[in-house]
Amino acid sequence: MKKIVILLGIPGSGKGTQASFITEKFGHRHISTGVLLRRLDADPNADPADKAKIAAMKSGHLVDSELIYRLVFREISQEIAAGQGVILDGAIRTLEQAEHYQEFFQTSGLVDEVQAIHLAMPDEVSVIRLSRRAVCTKCNFILTNPEAGQPELITCPKCQSPVTKRPDDQPEVVRERLHDQGNGALKPLVDFYAEHNVLATVDATEDIEHVAAAVAKALV
Ligand code: AMP
Repeated sequence: MKKIVILLGIPGSGKGTQASFITEKFGHRHISTGVLLRRLDADPNADPADKAKIAAMKSGHLVDSELIYRLVFREISQEIAAGQGVILDGAIRTLEQAEHYQEFFQTSGLVDEVQAIHLAMPDEVSVIRLSRRAVCTKCNFILTNPEAGQPELITCPKCQSPVTKRPDDQPEVVRERLHDQGNGALKPLVDFYAEHNVLATVDATEDIEHVAAAVAKALV
């Protein structure tokens, strides 16, 4: 199995959930830029200039790439030095970022260790899934609320901590996110990894277990 697994997919396609399964099954470390950014935002000692850059995230837009590279390249280097593989969850969202990461992999001697998985799903499914998504405030477990009209979940089934809805999962912000991060924006990235012959595509509209099995098959 390759040391660098890149998960590509529109919001709500299951990148975080599938990354957790890959970690459980294969031991690769999960690097989620969303989690790193939200952690930075909550850190009272973080650089105010970095925190200011996170404002873009709250309104549904992409965060400055320079901050992403600074956060992620350090994590990748640390994990690889410790003998771990990594799963990059949402860490690459534009063609420019894909090219910059590729240079980083080249100079780090990792370019033959890259595998990309596209969790393919239409934009309309994203709107429905994100309207029902909630996340644990402690362990980041991702939950799906019952359909409208039924009571929403208030505690995490894994660790019993309170759950919350992400501000960027509000319907009006989701529409902004799909503009920057929907299938239109994802296509050049998918093409980039296909051209490098490192892409596998999985149907992400299937249920979680089916998707997990297809992802595991693509990885080994
Ligand atoms: P996620 O938790 O993966 O949905 O990411 C939440 C938000 O973080 C995204 O909507 C973006 O605003 C920001 N973000 C995460 N990864 C990146 C990235 N690679 N480039 C730019 N912004 C990002």
